[in-house]
Amino acid sequence: MTLEEFKKISQAEIEQATSEITSVSDEQTLNNFKGRFLGKKSHLTDFYASMRDVVKEEKKDFGIALNDLRAKLQALFDEKENAFRQAKLNARLEKEKVDITLPGYQNTLGSKHPFYAVVDDVTDFFLGLGYTIADGPEVESDRNNFELMNIPKDHPARDMQDSFSINENTILRSHTSSVQARVLAAAKGQGPIKVICPGKVYRRDNDATHSHQFGQIEGLVISEDATFANLLETLTLLLRHLFGEKREVRFRPSFFPFTEPSVEADISCFECNGKGCSLCKHTGWIEILGSGMVNPNVLRLNGFDDKKYQGFAFGIGIDRVAMLKYGIDDIKRFYTNDVQFIDQFRKE
Ligand SMILES: [Zn+2]
Repeated sequence: MTLEEFKKISQAEIEQATSEITSVSDEQTLNNFKGRFLGKKSHLTDFYASMRDVVKEEKKDFGIALNDLRAKLQALFDEKENAFRQAKLNARLEKEKVDITLPGYQNTLGSKHPFYAVVDDVTDFFLGLGYTIADGPEVESDRNNFELMNIPKDHPARDMQDSFSINENTILRSHTSSVQARVLAAAKGQGPIKVICPGKVYRRDNDATHSHQFGQIEGLVISEDATFANLLETLTLLLRHLFGEKREVRFRPSFFPFTEPSVEADISCFECNGKGCSLCKHTGWIEILGSGMVNPNVLRLNGFDDKKYQGFAFGIGIDRVAMLKYGIDDIKRFYTNDVQFIDQFRKE
């Protein structure tokens, strides 16, 4: 084949390809086009093979013309392939279209429940004083809840805590003092002990400040030298930590079967500063908690030598502290899961 002949054939090949590419409408027909004009069985491949027979002086120009033909055919293919790729991408973009003018999703952060805010606050305070945390079950034996706390069956003090019975010997614990019995049993008569026990307790009670379910934090210290003065100091520090350094703290004699002597702690009213208002029932003082020196009977009942060991115990009402601290009017708000209520305690 001469160079002149090849140029004519080459021109015809390009015209043919240009005509056929217009009818290529999908990837299948595009592949057919590629095979026909650029593949192993194409004219192009034959032309390359015929290079062998071209006369020496035309070989160089023949090669240039051949490469030119291949480049033009390849360009036809590339252009179509790009068009398909672009169309595919456009279709995908259309399908996955995001309307950036839509309002975004709002991630609302939760807030700490006021009940647990008090638990954490009191717990942190006592951990700082070297106490550890003890735990016990809410379904408890009558023995741990009452008898080992110096409240035998038929003792009138049982009327102070109207409990829920499961059977004759099993109840829902009426105070976290039941954990005292467990801690003392685990210690097997060996002090010292320094624990707090936060948890839920249950009593048959129902009004704005009393609920069938509420929270207590029990504290128990047993050692050879724990004194009444230690108790008063500990509670004074706690109450000022909870209600402010300016609060006056006073202790009144009281009675609990598991402590002797027993005291109740009051703080000066933070609403009226002691002048008298509806919060403090015009007394200037607010009752906060009960406490006392561990009754020697409790020590003996739980396997401790009351000649060697002594100690003190206290019980804090979590709900009561939270109600006072945050001005909450009804104890039931703690467990009715009203988001608007809990939302008020969000720390921004
Ligand atoms: Zn007051």
